[in-house]
Parts: sequence; C-alpha cells; structure tokens
Amino acid sequence: MKNKTVRIISAVIAATLVFSLLFAFVAEIVIYNRVDAAQTVSSLNSKLDSLASQKAKIQKELKAIKSKKQSTMTKKAALDQQIDVTEQEVDTINQLITALDVQVATVTAELNAAQAAEQKQTDDFLARVRIMEEEGTASMLGIILSADSFSDMLTRTELIGSIVEGDKKLMRELAETRAGIAEKKASLDSARAEQAAAKSNLVAKKNSLQSQYNEANALLKSLNTSAAEYEKAFNEAERAMDAARADLQKLLSNSSSSTYVGGEFRWPTKATRITSPYGTRKDPITKKSSMHTGIDIGASMGSEIYASNSGTVIVAGWSSKGYGNYVVVDHGGGKSTLYAHMSKIKTKKGAKVTKGDVIGLVGSTGYSTGPHLHFEILINGKHTNPMNYFKKQ
Ligand SMILES: [Zn+2]
Repeated sequence: MKNKTVRIISAVIAATLVFSLLFAFVAEIVIYNRVDAAQTVSSLNSKLDSLASQKAKIQKELKAIKSKKQSTMTKKAALDQQIDVTEQEVDTINQLITALDVQVATVTAELNAAQAAEQKQTDDFLARVRIMEEEGTASMLGIILSADSFSDMLTRTELIGSIVEGDKKLMRELAETRAGIAEKKASLDSARAEQAAAKSNLVAKKNSLQSQYNEANALLKSLNTSAAEYEKAFNEAERAMDAARADLQKLLSNSSSSTYVGGEFRWPTKATRITSPYGTRKDPITKKSSMHTGIDIGASMGSEIYASNSGTVIVAGWSSKGYGNYVVVDHGGGKSTLYAHMSKIKTKKGAKVTKGDVIGLVGSTGYSTGPHLHFEILINGKHTNPMNYFKKQ
C-alpha cells in the first residue's frame, strides 16, 4: 500500500514536471513568436514608410519631367512653325532669283547685241576712213571735182561731210544704247546679289532652327525614356507596397498563436466624448470626403491612454502616415487595437500589456488638429467600427 502510494505520488510528480516543462517550452515559443511578429510588423511598417517616401520622390521627378516635356513640346511646335515660315521665305526668294536670272539673261543678250552693233558700226566707219585715207584727198577731191556743176560740187562736199556726221551720230546713239543696257544689267546684277545674300541668311537661319528642333526632339526622346524608367520604378514601389501591406495584414491576422483573450474591450480613456465617429466623413484638414478608420475621443492633452485589452505591443513609434506617435496592441485571435496622436508613448514594442495598463498619453502629434485619441479596432488587420464592441450610452 505504502509502496503503491509512493509510486503514484512519484508518477504524479514526474508527470507534473514534464507538463510544466512542456508548458514553459510552449509559452516560450508563444512569446518568441509574438516578439518576432512585433519586429516584423515594425519592419514592414518602416518598409512601407520608406516605399511611400520613395514613391513620393518618384512622383516629384515624374512631375518635373512632365512639365519639362510640356515646355519642350511647346518649344518644338514653335520651332516647327518658324522653320515652315523660313522655308516659305526661301521659296519666295528662290522664285524671285529665278525671275531675276531670266531678266539678267535677256538684258545680257540685249547688251551683247548692242555691243556687236556698235562694234560693227565702228568697224565699218574705220574701214571707210581707211579707204578715204589710202586714196588720199585726191580721191575726195576727185569726187568733188567730178561734179558737173558748182551746185553739184557743193552737194557732193556736203554729202561727204554729212556722211561723216551721220557716222558720228549713229555711233553716239549706239554707245548710249549700250550704256543704258549696261546700267540696267548692273542694277539687275546687284538686285540678284542682294537676293542671294538674303537667301543665304535665310538658309543659315533655317539650319539653326532645324538644329534647335533636332535638339528639342532628342531632349523629348530622353525625357520619354526617363519618364518610362521612373514609371517603372513607381510601379515596382507600388507592387512592393502591396506585397508589404499583404504581409502586414497576414501577420496581424495570424500573428498570435494564442486565442482571443475575450471579454469586452475597455474604453481606452477617462474621457468619453466622441468628437468624430467611425466612417466616411469630411476630412477636417483637406475638407474632402474620406474614410475615418477609427473614432476620435476628445480627451485632454497629457491624459492617460489605457490598453483596451491585454496583449502584445506590436507597434510603438512614429508614423509618417499621419498617426504621429502611435501604438498597436495585438490581442490574439486576429484582433488588435491602435492608439494614435500620442504626446508620449509609455510602452515598447514586444511588451506584454494587461487590459487597463497605461500605454501612452493623449496628444496631437501627426495628422491632427488638436489633442484627442484616435482609436481603432482592427480585425485581421482591417479597421472596423469600434462602437460595435462597446455599449452605447
Ligand atoms: Zn481620428
């Protein structure tokens, strides 16, 4: 009997020892998992923050590229128009030069004819004078003396004189004609030279416009390339954000291996006045319609914020997304609570808190217009109306 009793007691002790060891081991795993989850949540949150700022930077770059593209396209269009006008001007000048060339050719032919006529007259005259000189005055005298009357002789003398005079007059006229034509040709030549100079100026202008146009085109092409690169980076950041958000939601929904601690949530402040309910509302700062993911409780600056339920702190820090100083407590079973705009955080990530513990003080940090507590209840990482968990007064 005694031995049996001893044996039973020993067995109970052994079993108890084994159970308590096992329990301690399991408990350790649970704690380890919670701390790990808290670290991952915080690292995912900081990853989201950095991705968001990356996205904002990319957007800024894209905006700058877009405006540069716009101005380059405007410049390109203006250059295109200028090139068009210059081309039309060159066309007009080319027509003018062609017309002048025709006129110059006509005048040149006239001038050549006039010069030839003048030359011929000069040659004829010189030939006659030469003959007269060779035959000497005797011949002239002969002509005069062969007159059969005095009046005939006078006539013949006059005739010789008038022949010489006629020659002179004709040659003078020819020279005048030739000079007139030469003058006309000189003026046409200078007009043509003027148009040719204007044309070469226009061609130079057109070439410069064309090279500016080509530069604008190349700039546009490179802007398009970098815009495409930035868009790709933007999409990548967005995909990475989606992935991080999905990871975060998954973590928040099954981060705890323990079951929901149960019981009603505790009201997180002494103050009870709700200054802004959960749901769609007009944003107090942007005045645009937006989703209010929690309730705002009008508590005074520095008043205490209590853990709404027991659990593990998975976030305790600064949010660049507008929560300011905020805390998230994981209560297990996919439930967590979020407390935002704190003036001071009174807990640490990874800490175990009991319902009612002070985890922070009311403030107005982040996206806030005055001291209040923004309180959220998250189910599997998704916000829900916290008032579903409280008795309405
Ligand atoms: Zn709020």
